[in-house]
Amino acid sequence: MITRRALILGLLTCGCARVHARPQGGCLQPGVTAQAFLSSVDRVYSLSGEAEIIPTSGNQLLDRALTRALATLSRDFEVIPAFAYYDDRNDGAGGNARAIPAVHSGLHRADGTVLDGTVLFGKNLLRHCLARPQYPDAAIVAIAAHEFGHILQFKRGIALRMGGNTTMIELHADFLSGYFAGLRKLRTPDYPAAVFGAVAASLGGGDHGTPHQRGSAVEAGFLAAARDKLALSQAVEQGIRHVRRG
Ligand SMILES: [Zn+2]
Repeated sequence: MITRRALILGLLTCGCARVHARPQGGCLQPGVTAQAFLSSVDRVYSLSGEAEIIPTSGNQLLDRALTRALATLSRDFEVIPAFAYYDDRNDGAGGNARAIPAVHSGLHRADGTVLDGTVLFGKNLLRHCLARPQYPDAAIVAIAAHEFGHILQFKRGIALRMGGNTTMIELHADFLSGYFAGLRKLRTPDYPAAVFGAVAASLGGGDHGTPHQRGSAVEAGFLAAARDKLALSQAVEQGIRHVRRG
């Protein structure tokens, strides 16, 4: 059972949801509420093992593509979170995705060290993305990249550097999502990277920034990779400068 309180406290809200219709979580409040939320999820998967496959979305091709994309994200962002789908029926009209610093107690890396938080992708949000007429897989990866961006922020203490400003934190995650799109474009020139900007601009609102701000953050992140060829740490700093400029 996902309680309203668990949603309000301790969780970072993101993704495709119509944010006006859902509670806005705090960003860096790990602990009891996040653990309670995790205990409501059927099964949480670690991305730390090569043989591990994410839970099925009902579409085998998508599962394989998404598994590869998440593994690439994990390498590119230098984080190893757990990943799970969850029931987001009560988490915004269009569903939601979340990144939380907590990890299910049963999960850890092969060497016993702790995973870098958990990315949760709503089943409802997944359905909405799959219904997109063009590049539904890229839309899903764009949202996953934003959430992985939050995991990177947790790991590197980025939220504190931005004074806990929710909009700046969200736009920085958009920047990182765009950075990932740029990396993919460098590797695969026909990759539909423009989907990342369109997804960010069409979703969220409120504390996530305006559609224009979100699209601009994704574009700036894209250029940091595709044009400027910045390494991850450089891109993280560039993203901070970008959101500080407004
Ligand atoms: Zn977010």
